[in-house]
Order: sequence, then C-alpha cells, then structure tokens
Amino acid sequence: MDLLHSQLAILQQQLSFVATDPIDWKSYVQACSWGVTLFESYLLLRQYPLYSKTSPPEVLAGHFDDGAFQKSQDYGRDKAKFSLVTGLLKQAIDSAILHYGLYASAWDIGGRMIAYFGYGSEYEILQSLAFAIVLFVVSSIPSIPLSAYQTFVLEEKHGFNKTTPMLFVTDLLKGWAIGFVIGTPFLATFLYVFQWAGDRFVPWLMAFMLAFQIIMVILYPTVIQPFFNKLSPLREGELRTRTESLAMKLKFPLKHLYEIDGSKRSSHSNAYFFGLPWSKHIVIFDTLIKESKPDEVEAVLAHELGHWYHMHPMKLLCVSQVHIFTILALFPAFLHAPQFLQAFDFSKAVSARPPTVVAFFLFQMILTPLEAFIGIALNFLSRQFEWEADRFACEIQDRLSAPEMNDMGERLGRALVTLHVKNLSTVWVDWLYSAYHHSHPTLTERLKALEAFQAKKDGAAKKEL
Ligand SMILES: [Zn+2]
Repeated sequence: MDLLHSQLAILQQQLSFVATDPIDWKSYVQACSWGVTLFESYLLLRQYPLYSKTSPPEVLAGHFDDGAFQKSQDYGRDKAKFSLVTGLLKQAIDSAILHYGLYASAWDIGGRMIAYFGYGSEYEILQSLAFAIVLFVVSSIPSIPLSAYQTFVLEEKHGFNKTTPMLFVTDLLKGWAIGFVIGTPFLATFLYVFQWAGDRFVPWLMAFMLAFQIIMVILYPTVIQPFFNKLSPLREGELRTRTESLAMKLKFPLKHLYEIDGSKRSSHSNAYFFGLPWSKHIVIFDTLIKESKPDEVEAVLAHELGHWYHMHPMKLLCVSQVHIFTILALFPAFLHAPQFLQAFDFSKAVSARPPTVVAFFLFQMILTPLEAFIGIALNFLSRQFEWEADRFACEIQDRLSAPEMNDMGERLGRALVTLHVKNLSTVWVDWLYSAYHHSHPTLTERLKALEAFQAKKDGAAKKEL
C-alpha cells in the first residue's frame, strides 16, 4: 500500500503545475469539447452519402428485398440527421453554460437550497447533493423534447415506436425517482470516503466503486428493471428445452430463464445474460422469439454464452477498474488547486477550499479528449469480444461433441440477418465512423467471418477423414 502511495505522490508532483500555473482551463475545455463534437459531426458527414446507395453489399443481396433495404437506408438517414443536429445543439448549450460560468451559479443555488432548510456551507456533502440535483435538472431540460421527438416522430415514422405519451412520462418520472434513490446515497458515500480517507483515498474509493458495481449487478435486474419491464419465465416448449440443454452442456450456471416484454416500448430485439458467477439469468426479448425460429434463437444464445465462456464481462470489469484507477490517480492535483476552480468563475471564497464534488466534476471535463480515446479503445476491445463469441458459437459442435450443432454458424448468421432486417440496421458503414462508434462489427463483417470459421472447420473435418 505504501508503494502505491509513494508512486501516486510522484505522479502528483509531476502534476503540481495545476496548482501553481495560471492556465486558461475554460478555453481548454471549450476547445476540447468542440473538437470532439466537430469530429463526431465529421464522422456523420462521412457516413451520410452511404445512405444514398441503392443496393445492399453483395453478401446481403439475397437477404434483403428491395423494400426492406430502402427502409433501412431511410431510417439510417433520418437517425444520422437527428444525431448531427442534437450533437451540435447539446454542445452549444454546454458551451454556453460553461461560458457564462453557470457551474459556479449552480453551487451557489445549492447553497441557498440547503440554507432554506437551515443548513450552512459547513455541510459540504449536503450542498454537493443539491449542486448535483441543480445540474441534473438543467441538463435534463433540453434533453426531454429531443427524446420525445426521437420517440414520437423519428421512431414512430419508421414503425418502431410502441411507447404511449403516458408511458413516456411515467418512464421519465420513474427514471428520475430511481436515479435519486440510488444516486444520492452513492454520491454522499463517495464524498464521505474522500473526507474520511484524506490523501489516501485511491484504494478506498476503488473498493467502494467495485462494491457498488457488484451491488448494481444484483439490484438492477431484481429491483430496478421490473419497474420498467415485465420479466416472465420463458414458456415450456422447444426454445426452453434447447436453451436449458445448451446451458447444461456448457455448465453455464443457469438459474432463471426469462422472456422480457421489450415490445412494450419498441420493436427492436435482443437477448442477454446477467448475474453473479454462480447464478446466471438469461433474458430473451419477446420480439426475438417472435421473429426467429427456436434453433436460430439458440444460436444467438450460443453467441451470448461465448461471452460468458471467454469471461468477457469479467475482463471488461477489470478494464473499468484500470480506467477508474487512472482517473482517481490523476485527480488529487486538481483537488487542491484554487486556481483551477477560479478558471471556471468560482468565487475566491469557494475556490480557496475547493469542494470535492466541484473539483471532480470540472476534472471530468478536463478529461474529455482522454475519454474519447478510451471510448475508441473500449469499442475496439468489444468488437474483438464479439468476434470471439461468434467463433465460439461456430465451434460449439466440437467443444460439446454435438453433431446436431454443426450448423450453429449458419443459424447465427440467419438470426443476425433477421435482427438487422427487422431493426432496419444500417448495412453500409464508413470504416472510421464504425471504429469510433461501434461496439459490434458490422453485419457484413460478421457474416464473412462466420463463413470463414465454418469453412475452416469443414476443412479440418475433411482432413480428419
Ligand atoms: Zn455479443
């Protein structure tokens, strides 16, 4: 532990310029955030002309009828336009908030809120919670009409929307209530650990964040998700038998098998698993069950279980720990730097003893360019995991010595095509746009790889003969 702290102290020394040099942090944040937004707009402009193509890529030619392909192009174009406008609009609002020093005002408003209830500025955690609520409300106001437009105009136009205005409002209120119930104690504990551990907060906060992540893995599906969706046990029948037998053969600790009423809000479909290492739950969207045959859904689940077999969720958890550690290790230099807060229009009095929540919030903005690169790296990693899970599904026959699973790759291919066609997913994708945004390889790439895995397997089988 002492080694860790001595290393962290050396890092802080290198960052000591933050406390001493007058740096125009505000312009830096403006430049970085506009840089990221303009780059994302540029990517959309690269992608945009591809929506004018009149036929799908060759591998997909047989799967799309003309109408479906044209629909997917129209849907993609509308979504791209919407992303371009909302991206620029949100950035303009954030930029104005930053320019007019409204973060400093939010801290003062938080102070007045708690003063109303008789608490003074010595109650830093309380004022921090009020500050977070003010920021949350301010950032929610522009996003509500945008999200309503997306649901009731964009998705509606392309036949996906199943949300009623009533459901939209109750979802919003439920989301806020749950966010408040979970977010407030989380932030309070987070800030308390800072106060309590002093300069040695890094390992303690890491332990706290890890515990929180694990608690959420348990709470989300059992307590939170039922507020929004109904999970019912999957009916007896071919799909259930196939899934249970697949799980058993792979020694996947399947506790419950659910069908989720995803169709209540949207016609998009999917499947996923969650849970602790010894007790897992599989959830299948009702839309997927309706649109694909049981043997194809089984192939989708074989892909999902490939993620489990290769421990992808665990690996991602480890990566996120490294990410959190990096952020926390860099932070102290910004925590004790009055000049840093002053650069964002905070008063001399507030900046002299920087509130942790404010310093951490501003520090996050400083990290914008770093986070953009981390996002790219995480998407790259996630795409590798997708290849690996596809490969797992293709090779499952050998792993389980189950000849009836020989065509799993083809079945997965068919299921993916159905998913893409029904979801009107974009099939022509610019490589740079994809590298930046996509956590999954494109459909064309996946089908080609599935064919290659299958050919390699068939080749190996022939050699054995
Ligand atoms: Zn996957």
